[in-house]
Amino acid sequence: MATASIIKNIRIVLLGAPGSGKGTYGKELAKYLNVEIFSTGDMIREEIAAKTDFGNTLKEFSTKGLLVPDDLVTNMLLEKIKTFENINNNNNDNVMVNGKKNGFILDGFPRSLNQAKKLDIEIGGLTGVVNVDLKEDIILQKLLGRKICNKCNKSFSTAAILNEEEGYDMPALLRQEKCLTYMESHDDDKEDIILSRLQVYKDETMHLIDYYKKQKDMVKVFEVKKGLKDLPLLYKIVDDMV
Ligand code: ADP
Repeated sequence: MATASIIKNIRIVLLGAPGSGKGTYGKELAKYLNVEIFSTGDMIREEIAAKTDFGNTLKEFSTKGLLVPDDLVTNMLLEKIKTFENINNNNNDNVMVNGKKNGFILDGFPRSLNQAKKLDIEIGGLTGVVNVDLKEDIILQKLLGRKICNKCNKSFSTAAILNEEEGYDMPALLRQEKCLTYMESHDDDKEDIILSRLQVYKDETMHLIDYYKKQKDMVKVFEVKKGLKDLPLLYKIVDDMV
């Protein structure tokens, strides 16, 4: 076991269903470990917002809750990782580069067996895989309760998931009262899209847990019960991993 301060070249994959919170946990974990985070969902949203040809192609898949074709997303990500690793090439140890350590977390990638195999070939040597685990009925409540205020553009959650018996303690996160007047669902949080994203997760991504389990028991389960208040448990899991 090592403390976060002496970790070298961390490469952690976060797996988890849409709505499990892995994006939020990933960003907090990256700060904790002081490493880079590569989120394919964020990259795709940036491309779509920039309205590039590439972005328009990605939009056709992602707004329907479908996965973007493997080649497109894999090449996009590998290019970013390779640029990052080239910059850090001479800093193999614990040397700070741009204020960060030489390592990264992957959020939202891989999402299919093809992507996982390609990652093994091109990058290899993962430190470990964290499975962000949240029950499907709770995910559904969370995603249906996720709103955006069309005035101040901030996201918030109207879903209160509280169940003392089972240990759930995720209150609604409302911003200002007036946001409730202007709230809308995110484009990909409409019920039919949510259901197809969850189905795609079950069909394509869930198998990766077994794929990585077969590789030296790399998968650790992070059970979500209390939202951000669960972070110390995630940090402990990762500290034990490296
Ligand atoms: P979520 O996990 O909440 O579904 P993300 O922010 O990770 O959302 O991704 C948003 C969308 O971007 C996905 O629904 C999918 O269309 C696309 N996407 C992200 N990562 C990948 C990937 N690795 N492979 C294919 N499509 C992806």
